[in-house]
Amino acid sequence: MANKDHVEGLLENFSLLWKPRPGRVTGEFVEVYWKALKTFSDKQLTDAAELVMNDPNIKSFPAPGKIREVIAPDESKNKSFDTREGYCFECGKTGTTVSIIPGEKPKCRRCYSGITVEEHKERVQDLSRMQSDKKFWPDWAREVTGRAER
Ligand SMILES: [Zn+2]
Repeated sequence: MANKDHVEGLLENFSLLWKPRPGRVTGEFVEVYWKALKTFSDKQLTDAAELVMNDPNIKSFPAPGKIREVIAPDESKNKSFDTREGYCFECGKTGTTVSIIPGEKPKCRRCYSGITVEEHKERVQDLSRMQSDKKFWPDWAREVTGRAER
């Protein structure tokens, strides 16, 4: 069961990149997302949020359904995507691999999202900087949102 504060934290990160429809992440807004996603664990939601935030095809604030889609492509099975130590079928390296659809050939994090672990760490740091610095708009945020500025 997801913690409501955890969901709020993820939504705050999203709101740094995309404008939520009601304008900001209010209690009511968090409630709606939490109700839609509470059956998942905090870890599942964090992993899904990471995929959503690295997906250049998502140009607006992700609806709960969009987040669910990444967690569970097969709605009947509320199953998280698989991460395991193994072999990447894309580049051949061994390490942590991800497969979204059960039975799909696993890919490493880099081949999946197109970013390295280091780049991912940088993004996490950028997100916390974005919370205090309203002008800060890193290149990756431009790529992900398609907007030149905040
Ligand atoms: Zn790979």
